[in-house]
Parts: sequence; C-alpha cells; structure tokens
Amino acid sequence: MENGVQKWRFKGNESITTASGITVRGVLNMLMENLNPDDEKQILALGHGDPSHFPSFRTSPLAVDAVVDALRSFRFNCYGSTVGILPARKAVAEYLSRDLPYKLSEDDVFLTLGCTQAIEVALSALSRPGANILLPTPGFPYYEARCAYIDLEARHFDLLPEKGWEVNLDAVEALADENTVAMVIINPGNPCGSVYSYEHLQKVAETARKLGILVIADEVYDHLTFGSNPFVPMGVFGSLIPVITLGSISKRWIVPGWRIGWLVTNDTQGILQQSGVVESVKGFLNISSDPATFIQGAVPHILDMTQEDFFSKIIDVLRRDADICYEKLKQIPCISCPHKPEGSMFVMVKLNLSLLDDILDDLDFCIKLAKEEKTIILPGMAVGLKNWLRITFALEPLALDEGLERLKAFCQRHEPKSIGNGW
Ligand SMILES: *Cc1c(COP(=O)(O)O)cnc(C)c1O
Repeated sequence: MENGVQKWRFKGNESITTASGITVRGVLNMLMENLNPDDEKQILALGHGDPSHFPSFRTSPLAVDAVVDALRSFRFNCYGSTVGILPARKAVAEYLSRDLPYKLSEDDVFLTLGCTQAIEVALSALSRPGANILLPTPGFPYYEARCAYIDLEARHFDLLPEKGWEVNLDAVEALADENTVAMVIINPGNPCGSVYSYEHLQKVAETARKLGILVIADEVYDHLTFGSNPFVPMGVFGSLIPVITLGSISKRWIVPGWRIGWLVTNDTQGILQQSGVVESVKGFLNISSDPATFIQGAVPHILDMTQEDFFSKIIDVLRRDADICYEKLKQIPCISCPHKPEGSMFVMVKLNLSLLDDILDDLDFCIKLAKEEKTIILPGMAVGLKNWLRITFALEPLALDEGLERLKAFCQRHEPKSIGNGW
C-alpha cells in the first residue's frame, strides 16, 4: 500500500502483445464487430478458413467412428509420450510415404497440436541469436508472429502472381546471408490457392541447396488440389536437401477443432540429426503440451481407412466453388484475379481503388462491406499484401454465390459517379 492506494506488482507481458501484431483472427473479429445488427440477412463469411459447419464439408463418419472407438476402448485415457504415441507416428509415416520415393520411419514423425504447433516447434528449434528465416509474401501471419517472439528475424520474398504465385527465387537468393537458416513454402497455397509443379519445387530445392538452408514445407492443404498440377510433397527432394514437412488432418478431413498435426523430417542424409535440429525438436516437445491421447489413438484408423469417395466429394465441391468464384469475380471491374485457384480454399484478388469512390484501402473496403452487406472478406493487409483481398471460396455453393453477388452489388454502389452505371 502506498498512501492508502493498493499497488499491484504484476502486469501483462507486452512483448507477447506486440509480437501477436496483426493476426487473421484479430482482423476477422474486428470485421465481425462491424456487422449491422438490424440487418436480418444471413452473415456470409468469405474470410474464414474453416468450412466444418457447412453440410457439404462435413467430415467422414469413419473419422468420427475412429475417435469414438478410441474413447470407448479406454486405452487412451493416459498421457501420451512427448513425441506422440507410436501407432499414430507409424501411421503418419506410412501416410506420407505413399507420395515419396523412399520410406519414412516413425522416428521421422513428431505429433503436434495441429499444424499450428508444428510451426511453433520448427521455428523454435531453428532460432538462435542473429538467425533469420525467409518467409513468403503474401503468407500466413502466424509465422511472423512466432518469429517476433523468438530469436529469428523474418525476411520476406515475394510470390509472383503472374507466374501462378511461384516463389521469386532471385529474391530468395538476394535476401539470404550466412545467418539464414531456412525458407518456408506453403503448398498448396494459403492465401493464393496455388499448387506448385514438380519443376518449380525442384528449383526451390536447388536454390536451398546452393544457400545451405533447409526448406520448411507447410503442406496443411496436402491433396486439396483441383487444377492441372497434382500435389507434389517437398519431401520428394529429401535426398537433395533436408526438408521439414508440417501438416495436420485439420484441412483435408475438415476437423480443425480436433487439434492433431505433425512435424516430419524428410532427410535421407541425416543432416537434421547431425546438426542437432532433431534433438532440439524433441527438447521443445518435452516442455510443451501434447495433443489429446484419444485423438492420437484415432489417427491410424483415420489415415488408413478413409475412403477415396470422401476426398473426391470434397474436391468436387471445392472445384465447383473455385469455378463459381472465378467466373463471378470476372464480372466485377474493380477486382482482378491474376491466377485461378487450383488448390486449398482461397484466392487472392487485387483491388483497383481508382474504380471505387470513398474507399481508402483494402481494410476500409472490408469494413464497409461488412457494414453494408453483412459479408466478411479478409483484407490483403492481414496476409502481407495491401489493397488485395483474400476470398475463401470453401462455402456451400449457393452461399458463395450469394456472397459474391453482395460483393458485386457493393462495388457497383461504390463506383465513381463519373463512370455512371456503365457496367
Ligand atoms: C490452417 C493453417 C495452419 C494451421 O493448421 P492447424 O492444423 O489448424 O493448426 C497452418 N498453416 C497454414 C498455411 C494454414 O492455412
């Protein structure tokens, strides 16, 4: 007590508040606060990356049964091991090996709380004073937030919209120095909906080899592709360079709430072992929380038994949605789409502000859209590209169509008066 006033000796850790910076969730929550409560229309969310509540995106009943069976068996009420339970690690190794020219073992697999924790583990294991990592722009801001909180400087290379959002490898070479430890690729891409060809991934691998850095491949949208390029895992180059693959069942099985993912080392030469990265990953997992054991218990069944028709149904809906999205966007003059999405659930489109009255920037656009049309779209600034938009098309096709109609009506209403209603 000082002069009768109680004095508390604690306060919130400001370095966390600062590091968390701009997040997708934060921006979306802010937009949701701008909805007009008197408007009776349904909210249309074309900003979120979680379609699990739509009937067309319901997970496989088989996956649900696997979890129920795991619970009913009473075998998974215990703590797991820090790296994950053995049957689940084996199952992930087998699942990923299907697409590789060599076999992974369970020792290559570390189970995590979704792909989110896999990112945290990978970045933390590589951090050291002075180190830097190369991240894509546009990208997934969780990487930046994590870097800000540890000894890892984030440097940014651009993705090239006119080249299907391929990595600008010249930019990668220009950014790298002797303190660069890794580069990150997200394939299939969030936020761009891109799917990289084998040839491009090979060039990424050759560049990383030249620079002596490892590639962190965020493949949380593995196999969610519906264009001409098939999904190729970065791990196919695991004999040329060390690759850390990050993934989860959140997106392909549409169960982001189940919180199970993995960090996998693709490294036939054992470089990650020699350099101590594997020990560091294990150490980090020793001092962090594990995914629920019964979810781990369900993993073998989920990965081995899910029928092809479940996946193909989801892909068909996504392909249809991507088509609707691409065609509808063509009808809106102030929006241009440089590359039709071929994977994941997102497309990046560019705003032409000169074709809009009284709109300051992408954020202003999205706030006014939320207010006037009860429709949520993510402003590009949230993923590193100002005056672009990230549109999620993973909705029921009818809802998507309605959302894009509202977007079109909004743009029409805000066109400069001098142009009139010329379109
Ligand atoms: C959704 C997402 C993640 C996180 O996945 P979870 O399994 O839900 O933790 C990681 N990276 C990217 C690019 C994502 O879109």
